[in-house]
Amino acid sequence: METETHACLSAILSRMQGHESSVLRRLFAPLGCLLAAGLAAALASAQTDPVTLAPAVVAAGSPVLIHVDAGREAAIEGDWLGRKIQFFPAASGGGWFALAGVDVEGPLGPSTLHILVRSGEGVHDLSRTVEVEAAPYLTRSIKVAPKFVEPGPEELKRIEAESKLKAKVFAGSAAETLWASSFRAPVTAQATDSFGTRRMFNGKLASVHKGMDFRAATGTSVRAGNSGTVVLARLLYYEGNCVIIDHGLGLFTLSMHLSRIDVREGEHVATGDRLGLSGATGRVTGPHLHWAVRWQGAYLDPAKLLRLDLRSVR
Ligand SMILES: [Zn+2]
Repeated sequence: METETHACLSAILSRMQGHESSVLRRLFAPLGCLLAAGLAAALASAQTDPVTLAPAVVAAGSPVLIHVDAGREAAIEGDWLGRKIQFFPAASGGGWFALAGVDVEGPLGPSTLHILVRSGEGVHDLSRTVEVEAAPYLTRSIKVAPKFVEPGPEELKRIEAESKLKAKVFAGSAAETLWASSFRAPVTAQATDSFGTRRMFNGKLASVHKGMDFRAATGTSVRAGNSGTVVLARLLYYEGNCVIIDHGLGLFTLSMHLSRIDVREGEHVATGDRLGLSGATGRVTGPHLHWAVRWQGAYLDPAKLLRLDLRSVR
């Protein structure tokens, strides 16, 4: 590591001068040593920090995998931005994990991640400040059927009933993790419309796009991104034919606008099981699959969840 730092500094010095400068070398060599020592100290402290986050840089809408290096006998409590964090023991490699995240519309800037570890050695407060960075969101204008922007009284009644149903479904997540290993994309199709895009519907209604759209032709198989329980499988006003899977501890995936549903509410599914076929039902501009990830009310970027390596986690 130290050798690399020196090599890097001398490369910069050569570039600065265009030729070797003994004066500059003599001036900067001790600085190089200091930098290398600082880097080594930073690495040493990173190695001893019992808490690690993946990804290391947290942006609005990021899912965050939290690892706490603590023994199996420990009890860990956590909360972050008003959401309870529930830890479970790692499948391999030791320690405890929690899959958490920050909402796409949540506050930016410093946040406090509270972590308290109780063990035979006493209570350790591992709380820390986590900076939530802004993510680059785009704005798009979209045209849909007028009934989706200004629903009539009958439609409003239906929307309200469905919103209550969804709230009930989201409140009843399993008390343990139902997922295992990394998440998989629900379809073999190109992902479009980026997560977090601000959308103007017919120039009026603004909303943040809280999922990932796949350009899937009607009839494409839509599969479970991970194992869990089907907690909703029915036709909804905005979502169209919708399947919601509970992965436990407040984590859900939602597949919308399906042309056909092949699972029943209450059914257990494994990763890759077919949930139905993609389509163009509900509020859409054309056939596609809208796939969303929700954790304790926060909508997270599905692309970032798919990038998390969870093989040794659970
Ligand atoms: Zn969508």
